[in-house]
Amino acid sequence: MNPLVDPFGRAITYIRVSVTDRCDFRCVYCMSEDMTFLPKQDLLSLEELDRLCSAFVRLGTRKIRVTGGEPLVRRGVMTLFRSLSRHIGAGALDELTVTTNGSQLARYAQELRDCGVERVNVSLDSLNPERFRKLTRWGDFAQVMKGIDAADAAGLKIKINAVALKGVNDEEAPEMIAWAHGRGFDLTFIEVMPLGDVAEARFDQYLPLTELRAQLSRRYTLAPSTHASGGPARYFDIAETGGRLGFITPLTHNFCESCNRVRVTCTGTLYMCLGQDDAADLREPLRRSESDSPLETAIRAAIARKPKGHDFLIERTESHASTRRHMSVTGG
Ligand code: SAM
Ligand code: SF4
Repeated sequence: MNPLVDPFGRAITYIRVSVTDRCDFRCVYCMSEDMTFLPKQDLLSLEELDRLCSAFVRLGTRKIRVTGGEPLVRRGVMTLFRSLSRHIGAGALDELTVTTNGSQLARYAQELRDCGVERVNVSLDSLNPERFRKLTRWGDFAQVMKGIDAADAAGLKIKINAVALKGVNDEEAPEMIAWAHGRGFDLTFIEVMPLGDVAEARFDQYLPLTELRAQLSRRYTLAPSTHASGGPARYFDIAETGGRLGFITPLTHNFCESCNRVRVTCTGTLYMCLGQDDAADLREPLRRSESDSPLETAIRAAIARKPKGHDFLIERTESHASTRRHMSVTGG
């Protein structure tokens, strides 16, 4: 079967699949406190998610990242990991991984490892329990730490992702580096993106990572790393810690040339680009027939219109989101 290649010659080998829009946290930059979630019947069932992911694997996908919302709060989510792990066993998939807030990791870390998951991304914006609570509104810092310990003990490689927020957690950055690298975890800072309306003004939170990097250079020796993930992150090796630090700067850097990924929402909508609204409905072809052929045709047609690049913009004068979707809908 011909693998998926978009009109700009980019092979599409990586999908991020959101399995729920729900979450047990309410991070200030991601959701409002009174988020309205999708009716449950709109969501793809776990069997449908498996069919959808498996169709992508047949079309050349080598890496699947399960995300959300908080993926590990979806009931029965381990059934999906277990069934997708067959593709790893068969050599059709290189990597099955997950992005999580860590709240359920104490429960699931070992099971994830048993399903062939080797690495997890854990989002953690602060090491200060009080600040962590303020940022996540509902998060329990101790529970997340227990989750990280369990993941570590299960032999999962851990990458910490922290959203850099001006005047909120930037002063903690050196401490976070020392902690993460001290435990052998990679750490990546992410610029806040204008996705979905949340209560607070975006511009106030926006911290260009060039600024953070300059700040960190006064304390640490940052050498550009040869490590490349094929994604939007740029990496630096830190001499003092021996660890690796990433920066994801979607607003100040253009990483679209090497884009190999698409995103699927929990309702089966395929977004060809995080920063653009064009999308394709995969739920209808999925439900129309027991055969996967309408689904595969819909996927191919969508990839044929993957845009060249995105178009984020944070204007000083307006705090509205340039894209109406929340990250929790598209899948982070
Ligand atoms: N709940 C899981 C978690 O927090 O890791 C997975 C989904 S979450 C939407 C994925 C990532 O998106 C998290 O690292 C989060 O910090 C990030 N994120 C959410 N909203 C964002 C925004 N507006 N700008 C930048 N990153 C954002
Ligand atoms: Fe939930 Fe992740 Fe969004 Fe935080 S960033 S509210 S943990 S989906």
